[in-house]
Amino acid sequence: MDKRFDKAIEEIQKGKKFLVVSHVSPEGDAVGSLLGVALALRSIGKDATAYLEDPVPDLFKFLPGAETVVHSLEGAGPFDATFAVDCGQRERLGKGFVNLKAPGRVVNIDHHATNDCFGDVNVIVPDASAAGELVYDLCKAADIPINRDIAVNLYVAIHTDTGSFRYSSATSEAFIKAGELVRLGAEPWDISRRVYENHPARKYKLLGMVLSTLDIIDAANGGAEGNHSPKIATLVVTKDMFRQTGAEKDQADGFVNYARGIEGVDVGVLFRETGQEEYKVSMRSKGDVDVAEISQGFGGGGHRNAAGFTMKGSLDFVKTEVVAIIKERMRAALKV
Ligand code: AMP
Ligand code: MN
Repeated sequence: MDKRFDKAIEEIQKGKKFLVVSHVSPEGDAVGSLLGVALALRSIGKDATAYLEDPVPDLFKFLPGAETVVHSLEGAGPFDATFAVDCGQRERLGKGFVNLKAPGRVVNIDHHATNDCFGDVNVIVPDASAAGELVYDLCKAADIPINRDIAVNLYVAIHTDTGSFRYSSATSEAFIKAGELVRLGAEPWDISRRVYENHPARKYKLLGMVLSTLDIIDAANGGAEGNHSPKIATLVVTKDMFRQTGAEKDQADGFVNYARGIEGVDVGVLFRETGQEEYKVSMRSKGDVDVAEISQGFGGGGHRNAAGFTMKGSLDFVKTEVVAIIKERMRAALKV
């Protein structure tokens, strides 16, 4: 018996009216887990409001239930309980939620090691490949049948958060659960076609501009070790690039992987201009450099190999600060 969800299940049994929330700038795991919980609750006759501060990215609008997501909580509630999924900090759930008067008891279900346990009930499992994997476990523990619509959402959550089963998070558990979700009705090719082979041309125009900002920085002292020394690769995306191409901000999600994907590069960084002298910093590492730890130092969070935060300052300032810390941690971690 899976006891981890006992308190969460108690809330489900006690309540009638639920709120389900996930983080700002939602990606596949956020949207899939959110809708997985909402559809599971609705399937057993509960009232579930699904809320995201930001819009559902176009790529995920096909997910069953996506059309029911609301983006304002004005006048909403009171709720018996709120399920927060895939989110390490309350503030990342967005202003609408933070200002909500009566969210009820908050059940925090997440897989970020940096989660600060903001819930009244906290189920934090850093070994889980995706929050979607935990929603799968919750459904099993609560005896809620996973119907086709729930399966599609949870499959997308696991598939996207493991980088299509390429990352170290792609454990045998992740494969087994994904396999079960396919058995329950998720169709891999149909989903892949919609998520990975369906990009608007303006995204490629944006990518072209972003790739032209590529900077490869030698991380070893003095760079004396030439090609064999570890490297940091940076990319930049500005508001002006979004304006010029007409691309939406979530269309730069994933571009940071092009930086990490370069031979000899240990850490890839994408700086995305989000406001006047403000940048969202996304980091991806290959091995021993813990970017979640670096992110936490800047008030953000994430996973060992994928983390992010927001920082104020000019691009020059932000880049210099971030690169300096990464270099320091890289030298310590890689012993160069
Ligand atoms: P991203 O670079 O936005 O794709 O995020 C990579 C990972 O870091 C994800 O697991 C995010 O949940 C986490 N993350 C990104 N930005 C923040 C932030 N400002 N605070 C906490 N965690 C973050
Ligand atoms: Mn996740």
